[in-house]
Amino acid sequence: MSIQFEPTSKTGEPAEISPLPSWKNEPLLRVEDLKAYFFMDEGTVKAVDGVSFDVFPGKVVGIVGESGCGKSVTMKAILQILEGSAKIVSGKVTLRSRINNQDPNSPEELLELTQLHSNSRQMRKIRGAEIALIPQEPMAAFSPVHTVGSQIMETILLHQDVSKKEARQITVEVFKAVGISMPEQRIDSYSWQLSGGLRQRAIIAMALSCNPRLLIADEPTTAIDVTTQAQILKLLRKLQEERQTSIIFITHDLGVIAQMADEVVVMYLGMVMEKGSVQKIYKNAQHPYTQALLRSIPSVQSASHVKLPTIAGSIAHPFNRPSGCPFHPRCTFFMRGVCDASQPALVRVEEDHFVNCFLFTENSSAPAEISVQVPPPMEKSL
Ligand code: SF4
Repeated sequence: MSIQFEPTSKTGEPAEISPLPSWKNEPLLRVEDLKAYFFMDEGTVKAVDGVSFDVFPGKVVGIVGESGCGKSVTMKAILQILEGSAKIVSGKVTLRSRINNQDPNSPEELLELTQLHSNSRQMRKIRGAEIALIPQEPMAAFSPVHTVGSQIMETILLHQDVSKKEARQITVEVFKAVGISMPEQRIDSYSWQLSGGLRQRAIIAMALSCNPRLLIADEPTTAIDVTTQAQILKLLRKLQEERQTSIIFITHDLGVIAQMADEVVVMYLGMVMEKGSVQKIYKNAQHPYTQALLRSIPSVQSASHVKLPTIAGSIAHPFNRPSGCPFHPRCTFFMRGVCDASQPALVRVEEDHFVNCFLFTENSSAPAEISVQVPPPMEKSL
């Protein structure tokens, strides 16, 4: 097979590419020290400030944190769809991409996505065919003046060498796969004619229509009721197991992450606070922020009529980022002269478990001995 590469890097040079065999144990996507900032008249917002994580084939990585922690900007940076004044400042995003995305056994190439122009042919091929997005709000994802089927067929025709008739058949098949009844009729519906649950299934069908190897699900169940949410999560997990698709699942809900993810990345103010396997994070969370998030999840064992603990204070204004550890104004373990003086680094406290906090040192899941006087936990008021 002859391979034609486009001159698509930002410098106009061909992007750095090296053909690779398919390695099951190598990450499908590797994000390394990614930084994406908004440059505004009022100042610079460090929305993503040194984020690193791996996504392995067939695995689900859950990215969790409060609103404004940089989860969605990280995903937009990966897909090169940052808007307005936002720019990738540094870091790498490396994808193992199939040379022929219609062939599941195709040889692969390593692509450094930050080196590709966001509008290049190669990047457009990756979006949809290699990495597909399930957005938060399906109503905004579908045009109201075209049928959902025609929009999905358009995506298929863009990425696959098939006729219109075949594209329609593929659309019917993906509708069936996501559990939409009467798929032959429903593909001719407009998005506003579908219920919230059906619209969400249709958007998942659109994301799956070109057999992507990585799905990015950005809070896909936020806008739907709890019963439909449970059905959609079950569907995503089933499709992921059947197709061995990798998923990056973004949410603020640690309860959802527990059901969905294999690996968890906890973010705060654009930085990774803790990451590890789902078992490590739920059974042995170490970072004060992760522990606070876990305490605020309702449980059937919680005493009735007792207020759930909340995290004191609120996330800092982006123009007013705290010095040192970004969580220090809200942390009950705050150490004056340490936590506000410099930024901690992510250290490996045990196998498959990393924490970004001065309380921990390399290979130690027990708090480090800090050579300053630790004041008692601060009194917090909401
Ligand atoms: Fe709390 Fe300090 Fe750890 Fe930050 S570095 S989480 S302020 S103890």
